[in-house]
Amino acid sequence: MEYCLFCKIATGAIPGNIVYQDENVVAFVDINPQAPKHILLIPRRHIASMTDLTLDDGPILAQLFTTAQKLAHEMSIDESGYRFVSNVGPDSGQSVFHLHFHLLGGRKFSWPPG
Ligand code: 5GP
Ligand code: ZN
Repeated sequence: MEYCLFCKIATGAIPGNIVYQDENVVAFVDINPQAPKHILLIPRRHIASMTDLTLDDGPILAQLFTTAQKLAHEMSIDESGYRFVSNVGPDSGQSVFHLHFHLLGGRKFSWPPG
């Protein structure tokens, strides 16, 4: 089922610059990058946001994190450092309601975030 934009990128119905995919996880380049390296990682299965996660989703979360870890290594940002973040709801600025993590690197980030 294709519920949303990111579901369509995951199935290939809409072209995305996919850098990694397997049966559970898809990773693609953000269309509006906020850093020299900016990848989005999503579960293939539609989950609207972190708000909808349960303990049963533990394995897919582990896969998203370990995929991000591998991509960070491949992009040579594992030693310089990176951000791995998910926006949830209005105050965060979440704009696509399919759970996704931003993997950002290649520059210094400020803290606290804007
Ligand atoms: P959010 O604001 O929900 O945390 O992040 C959504 C992200 O999706 C944004 O960084 C935005 O640039 C990205 N995005 C929106 N539409 C598309 C698209 O069609 N293709 C790709 N690759 N990224 C998109
Ligand atoms: Zn979706």
